[in-house]
Amino acid sequence: MKHIEDGRLRRFVTAVFAKAGSSPEEAGMIGKRLVDSNLMGHDSHGVVRVPSYIGWLGEGKIKPNMHVKVVAEAQGFAILDGQGGYGQVLGGEAMEIAIAKARAAGVAMIALRHAHHLGRIGDWAETCAAAGCASIHFVNVVHTGGLVAPWGGKERRMSTNPFCCGMPIEGREPIILDFATSKVAEGKVQVARNKGVDLPPGCVVDGEGRPSLNPNDLYGPPPGALAPFGDHKGYGLAFFCDLLAGALSGGGCNHDGHPNLGTVHNNMMSIVIDLQRVGDAGAIDAEARHFVDWMKACKPVDAEGAVMAPGEPERKTRADRLAKGIPLDDTTIAQMQAAARSVGVDEAAIADLVA
Ligand code: NAD
Repeated sequence: MKHIEDGRLRRFVTAVFAKAGSSPEEAGMIGKRLVDSNLMGHDSHGVVRVPSYIGWLGEGKIKPNMHVKVVAEAQGFAILDGQGGYGQVLGGEAMEIAIAKARAAGVAMIALRHAHHLGRIGDWAETCAAAGCASIHFVNVVHTGGLVAPWGGKERRMSTNPFCCGMPIEGREPIILDFATSKVAEGKVQVARNKGVDLPPGCVVDGEGRPSLNPNDLYGPPPGALAPFGDHKGYGLAFFCDLLAGALSGGGCNHDGHPNLGTVHNNMMSIVIDLQRVGDAGAIDAEARHFVDWMKACKPVDAEGAVMAPGEPERKTRADRLAKGIPLDDTTIAQMQAAARSVGVDEAAIADLVA
């Protein structure tokens, strides 16, 4: 395990995508968003993705330098098509449109389809919060026919369908809830596989439907499935992520009629609320502040611990990793360097990753 300074990692990832055909702005945005995921502690959505993005790019399944195209719009909504481009760019463009519409109408709904992987969805709630907006994001993932078994079922049907919401509080860090509706994100299984460690119980079933701790059992052969979090309730939320993101955007829900794209596409339905435009902004802020303080003042079970608000664990990890560097295992480093070599990044820049 090595600890790599965030700036060095960003420079490496940006160099890879610039060589791979992205504009400097796009390459920089991919570098920023992936490294931010690592900083926030979500390694599953960080630089571990570089080799697969480069692989899909080589197969023509990601299109560089794409921007959102407006398919339909009115004052309070927009339907956007990402045209298979990098989610790191398209997500930001979609939020810009949503925030502008929320400023005008108070509330806006945007549905984005055909974005390649949108990464850590918390990025988009943080973007809204920085603009003074609360937001709710339902996301589905359409790729190779599903990963997650529905509650009560033993076949893959949906994907890890993330759900996220955020709320800004004046002068404080925003409250950000952001998770996969599977018990764990698929990337966490990838990370455990690279590290050669077991998964916590209840995350995957093997190809026969038996609970397993072995991350390799998800991939098979025969392939297993991820389990939804929270029994029937988590399954229900995952169900609505697919319905709202897939059907409203036009990018499609996970079902047998959906084309197998051979890559990850995200569809996202976001509701963005400008808190200055709906009711008494000062009273909303005071109530939110009071509620958060009340939660955090709760006596912790563990005398050494503390009750946290959603988003707090990520900010603690970020502060720690900014100071100590981002931990990366040798397998991930080797895979990233191989991906860089495959697009022609020069050897000095490749060696610089671990210099
Ligand atoms: P997770 O299980 O680590 O849960 C994270 C959420 O729980 C955060 O909001 C965090 O602040 C909160 N949390 C954790 N511990 C807490 C505590 N003790 N007190 C209060 N709040 C706490 O997340 P996950 O399901 O592994 O998802 C990881 C990332 O994967 C997310 O960023 C998600 O958006 C991303 N993801 C993306 C896709 C995609 O297709 N783009 C798919 C799945 C997941």
